[in-house]
Amino acid sequence: MNDKNTNEDELVVFVCNDLGSITRGRAIPLADLQEKMQTGVGWVPINQTISPFDQIPESDLWGSHGDRRLLPDPATEVRVDLALGYTPLHFFLCDITHLDGSPWDVCARTFLKNTVEDLRERTGCSVRAAFEHEFAFTDMQPAADPGFSLARLRAVEPFGTHLIRAMRQAGQEPETFLAEFGVAQYELSCKPALALAAADRSVIMRELVHETARQHGRKASFSPKLTPDTLGSGVHIHFSLLDEAGKSRTYDANRPGRLSEIAGQFSAGIVKYLPSILTFTAPSVLSYERLIPHSWSGPYACLGERNREAALRICPTVETSGRRPDEQLHLEYRACDATANP
Ligand code: GLU
Ligand code: MG
Repeated sequence: MNDKNTNEDELVVFVCNDLGSITRGRAIPLADLQEKMQTGVGWVPINQTISPFDQIPESDLWGSHGDRRLLPDPATEVRVDLALGYTPLHFFLCDITHLDGSPWDVCARTFLKNTVEDLRERTGCSVRAAFEHEFAFTDMQPAADPGFSLARLRAVEPFGTHLIRAMRQAGQEPETFLAEFGVAQYELSCKPALALAAADRSVIMRELVHETARQHGRKASFSPKLTPDTLGSGVHIHFSLLDEAGKSRTYDANRPGRLSEIAGQFSAGIVKYLPSILTFTAPSVLSYERLIPHSWSGPYACLGERNREAALRICPTVETSGRRPDEQLHLEYRACDATANP
């Protein structure tokens, strides 16, 4: 655990990412951290049904009853101090549990852990994944510099540098930061990690974009579509299947698209069940304003080799300096946005 800070008043926030992909939680003083790592903090079951507009639905399952805990996972500690006049951002991602610490099946992180285990039992595979996150500054003038231009990249400095610094302080592994094509749009991507760590990283990435923007007096939005005429912001999930030893099971040079049999089956399953899968990965009204042709959002229910209009894309491999394709080949699921819980 990070012991750099001796200020016992520092707030440490225990958080979870809710079903609408909003990170919510409660803070404690750093002085109490040791004890609270064991007990967590109180949480309320209906918090899982509060809408992004802070309304509790009429048909709420739990009403005013019941109690849960937010139990922190020590592996997820994030402490970022950009020294820009703000207090450090210090938080842990948590599971939502019953009072005895046993898993609660409405906790999205628990659901992911169970799914990862289910996949391993049925196929012997695990998933390695990396998230790309697009976002737009709502405070930036639309007539700004062109997409992908050095000018637009520099226009927000030192935001980019501070974002990379925040990610690295948090122990995450940022890969690229770029000025995207949409209005005031930028993108952050990270290196791959095993499924749970990758999903945690997706939550952390978004929170660090918000935090860095906040400290710069800016406002970043991950909305799938900010206005009807602008390009949307997507979440692209790169992934490959691994065997028990952690070697890729995704590649077979002799098959179509160089996809192994199991990766082909996995892809076919995604394409077949895409309408149902969209319930989770494109869960908001605005999600469907983004999923339209000619915006590279992956609106077509197909597997495409190096085609950005396909919901599922076979990504290229880099073969410079004799690099081998077998551990690199992977898929990219593009029909996702940040209104989805990762
Ligand atoms: N903005 C596009 C989307 O909505 C993606 C553009 C790209 O990076 O290919 O997913
Ligand atoms: Mg992009």
